[in-house]
Amino acid sequence: MNNTFTNKKINSLKAENLDWSLIQAQMKSKLGLDIYESWLKKINFVEEFNNYILLSVPTRFIRDWVTSRYLDQILQIVKTYRRDIIRIEFKIVEQNLSLVEKEKNLEQLSTNENISFIKDSFLQYNRIDPNKKFENFVTGSSNKLAFEASLKVSENISQYNPLYIYGGVGMGKTHLLNSIGFELKNNNKIMFISAERFMYQFVKSIKANEMVKFKEYFRNTDVLIIDDIQFMNGKEAMQEEFFHTFNALIDKGSQIVLSADRPPNKLSRIQERIKSRFSGGLVVDIQKPDSELRKKIVEKKTEELKSFHAGELKISKDTQDFISKEITSNIRELVGAINRIVSFSRIYNKTPNLAEVKIVLKDLLNLSENKVTIDLIQTLVCKFFKISKNEMLSSRRSRYLVRPRQTAIYLAKILTSKSLPEIGREFSNRDHTTIIHSVKTIEKLKEKDDLMVDNINKLKNQILYNKENEI
Ligand code: ADP
Ligand code: MG
Repeated sequence: MNNTFTNKKINSLKAENLDWSLIQAQMKSKLGLDIYESWLKKINFVEEFNNYILLSVPTRFIRDWVTSRYLDQILQIVKTYRRDIIRIEFKIVEQNLSLVEKEKNLEQLSTNENISFIKDSFLQYNRIDPNKKFENFVTGSSNKLAFEASLKVSENISQYNPLYIYGGVGMGKTHLLNSIGFELKNNNKIMFISAERFMYQFVKSIKANEMVKFKEYFRNTDVLIIDDIQFMNGKEAMQEEFFHTFNALIDKGSQIVLSADRPPNKLSRIQERIKSRFSGGLVVDIQKPDSELRKKIVEKKTEELKSFHAGELKISKDTQDFISKEITSNIRELVGAINRIVSFSRIYNKTPNLAEVKIVLKDLLNLSENKVTIDLIQTLVCKFFKISKNEMLSSRRSRYLVRPRQTAIYLAKILTSKSLPEIGREFSNRDHTTIIHSVKTIEKLKEKDDLMVDNINKLKNQILYNKENEI
């Protein structure tokens, strides 16, 4: 059985030392290169204990950041090698990497893949993210053309040259560029760089008197991929160099792929002849995703995450529908929203209900907090319990008024940033101790009374998202 096999694997591994480089590789592939490079690479293994491991990080800040965001997932990865480990501890060890070590690190980064390598920082920005491939690019009417053109380029170099993809932020441009690089990197020398980086390298090379190297380096690539070309706004000399590089590459049959947030003719501060070169191949755009595509992306991403978190992930169909209906601006936000819900579900080990989803995604949903007023809370709570506002604000203590009043106070506390005295004032100048008492009462009731939990959730829903409840 599968289980037996896994157990065996775990046991046989147990005898050996925990191989941190394996964990690092997993973190890289599961959490993405960006996150790995920014945060996780800096974590070192110190020691393994009975049921926990000790790691070191260079600063308190990194420790806090990693703990608050990635600890769960790191532990998950560690657990695949060491089932007994139930927690991770950190100590802070300032690192003063010697030069030799630094060089060694750089060397390790230059994999044996055919991605061009030039000493120092060129490499840092020439990384293909293995998580952004054609396979996990979901297509719909808004991005189909860009997708197909990218695919063609990756099958047959210099058929569309250059390929110029444009569209707003978070629409998948970098994802497509990366996919092209990923497909082609085994058989071609690839240079994947942002325009900003390109300029930076250019200026640096001039200063260091290394222009020859710079030219050679760029003119030597088979596939030059430049992301966010709208940021290319350098001086004449740089545009000159770029123009020549561009022409030299096209002449020798190298592929050029560019992305931007606008079409070539709308680029500012770029020479006309360069713009016209940009338009000389194939220009395709990516539009905002329609609801069908958003739905597909939400489904696909949820599936992906489900398979990664093996069965412990719970996201309801309602939540999926809600996200794809409400997050319309771009795909990055859509993906971000799903990730957040997944984190929530894992941290609290539960399927978030819609009210919780709305809270977790609040800032993405145009439901800014200042729209939630105590007055709104009172109105909706009164309506819900069928009492009048006068009754709610009165000093009468009949049972049928006390609970709704306490509920409204509780909701005011958790859904607004008002202080206790401020809340008290809006409830007919009640004392802040009364407010604390109400909040505590509801919290206690919630622990044992399912109906209370249900009511609170329904109310939260209405308050945070009162589109249907025009009042
Ligand atoms: P852009 O470069 O246009 O700003 P990105 O390529 O960085 O956008 O995309 C933002 C996020 O959305 C990335 O995580 C990317 O993987 C994801 N994404 C974008 N488009 C798609 C798509 N069609 N299918 C799956 N994921 C997508
Ligand atoms: Mg991008």
